Amino acid sequence: MYHLSSHHFVTAMSAENPPAVAAESGDVLLVETMDCFGNRFYRTEQQEGEPAADNPATGPILIRQAERGDTLKVDILKINIASQAVIEQIAGKGCLGKLVEEDAFKIVPVEQGHVRLGDLDIAVRPMIGVIGTATPECTSTLTPGAHGGNMDCSNITEGATVYLPVLEDGGYLALGDLHAVMADGEIGYSGAEVCGSVLLRVTVLKHVCLQYPVVKEGAYYYFIASADSLDEAAEKASIQLAEYLTEYGGMTSSEAVMALNLIGSLGICQAVNPQKTVKLQIHESWLKHRFLVACSV
Ligand code: CA
Ligand code: ZN
Repeated sequence: MYHLSSHHFVTAMSAENPPAVAAESGDVLLVETMDCFGNRFYRTEQQEGEPAADNPATGPILIRQAERGDTLKVDILKINIASQAVIEQIAGKGCLGKLVEEDAFKIVPVEQGHVRLGDLDIAVRPMIGVIGTATPECTSTLTPGAHGGNMDCSNITEGATVYLPVLEDGGYLALGDLHAVMADGEIGYSGAEVCGSVLLRVTVLKHVCLQYPVVKEGAYYYFIASADSLDEAAEKASIQLAEYLTEYGGMTSSEAVMALNLIGSLGICQAVNPQKTVKLQIHESWLKHRFLVACSV
């Protein structure tokens, strides 16, 4: 098993970054991650002078078998989080930015499965904010897109599987921005930001071509799309799922449109990043076609 330290991080998803490790399809890796502030609230004296990275993602992990046009399947086997997290507010940022008079942050304890925020005890639900592959245009780790990235999808939890389009040979997976817990939308511009580590398995699915990321959590698939607005993102996610139902599910386009009114549930991942991200949820029982059979292997 590989063990990747969070010192190997990137701030852009690019195949120009030297790989932190070269893995094989099927390998298991333990990946340490800094929080989205580059751990700047917990720096040692020695580190004081070093610039803190913004939204660092550990990696990239090159996967030898991955070629452009494949899909990278990432099984999230375990998420370990630190015993303290940071919650931040920034004037003008997020859906609540107009209420923020002064930038502020709080370091909060994460104990016995709960985040303690003042008098509130909030159950943890550890998730990965940033996970993605390299893009030809060298996308910042702050921006989500077809490669994944800063999707802030609360369903990327322990036990979930993330399917990512491979846009560059080798894949160049990188991940970070763990949250002890985050509600859908991330409306105040911050989850309970936490450093930690993720145990994961990477598998290359040859000739399975995805337009956008897909997440599987429990019995549900989430078709993820990001765009300048939530409206556009909703349209992209909906069209992708409708196309799968017509291409592999034996439905006509009209049948897929009508069915998705009843079985496709739209939700918000985040409404605060440079591109907004939505998820279209569908129960696995509706997707028994070839694409997802290949993915579930
Ligand atoms: Ca994030
Ligand atoms: Zn975050």
